[in-house]
Amino acid sequence: MKIVVHIKGEAEQWREALADAFPEATVLTSDACAEERKNADYLAVWKPPEHLLREQTQLKAMINLGAGVDYLLRTPGRPKEVPIAKLRDAGMSELMADYVLYGVLHFYRSFDRYAAQQANAQWQPHPVEEKSQWPVGVLGLGAIGAHVAETLSQAGFPVSGWSRSPKRIEGVNCLHGDDGLENILSQAKTLITLLPDTTETRGIINAKRLGQLPQGASLINPGRGTLVDENALLKTLDASEGLRGAMLDVFPEEPLPADNPLWRHPKVTITPHMSAPTPLHDAIDQVIAYIRDFEAGKSVTTVDPENGY
Ligand code: NAP
Repeated sequence: MKIVVHIKGEAEQWREALADAFPEATVLTSDACAEERKNADYLAVWKPPEHLLREQTQLKAMINLGAGVDYLLRTPGRPKEVPIAKLRDAGMSELMADYVLYGVLHFYRSFDRYAAQQANAQWQPHPVEEKSQWPVGVLGLGAIGAHVAETLSQAGFPVSGWSRSPKRIEGVNCLHGDDGLENILSQAKTLITLLPDTTETRGIINAKRLGQLPQGASLINPGRGTLVDENALLKTLDASEGLRGAMLDVFPEEPLPADNPLWRHPKVTITPHMSAPTPLHDAIDQVIAYIRDFEAGKSVTTVDPENGY
């Protein structure tokens, strides 16, 4: 068996861990020469170069070393018939839940207002609403979104979640379809976008949908930058009856260019795609389990390229 790993900055750690788990296998990083790299059985990759995909002839599977599979699906030269497994949770959901809870509390407890007041030495406490009066909407109830929704519900917020297929999550009002989305948008004081980047979801948070949110609502986007129409977001942030603020972790172009107006917008908090970095050990365990299951002919949940996630 041959496994080739490609992930910037971590490839050697991955290579060593996979070589320990599969002592009979040849495990290489993509830095190996082309002759050695070819005829791999598995690619374990994050943002692989096109040539690495094109040169393979007998792949059994590719494993995407992250939850978002949009980059790999778009990479030219991807062998279409080869199944793709992706990281599912692998320790990311807990990190993401921390990030989102922080973001919801940021708006719910008026930390955005206090930061603005501090610049003017203004001492002005704001009343705290009951949590029951602060509905939160979570778009995307996958491995990460479902845990985020549960965490917010356990923290006392009324939570509605939206997915493509019907779901049941304790403490979460699970909705789907266009009506479900409208229902969530009409109520959410904080909206969280944890959808994948697909042809259906790109630009889903557009001017119309931002306009459906209650006046003074807030947006947290740790999913994918392409979900939000940036111009529409800037317009609604500048409108007197528009959004109160946004906390953004992901952008269509990363790093976010220095001249992007979001950097300097007083109602925007920016973090550099750090909401849920993949914990290495959990991820390695999951990839080892995937390869064992593929080798044993067991069924592995794989990405549906048609749906894009
Ligand atoms: P996932 O398990 O693939 O789940 C995706 C969810 O989105 C599912 O609930 C799915 O519905 C729903 N969905 C997809 N297309 C939809 C549509 N057209 N309409 C309604 N719902 C739709 O993804 P995940 O692992 O939870 O990750 C969520 C996102 O977080 C990913 O896009 C990833 O890129 C992002 N992420 C970001 C970071 C970071 O550090 N910023 C880290 C990890 C992940 P069904 O349940 O019905 O299939």
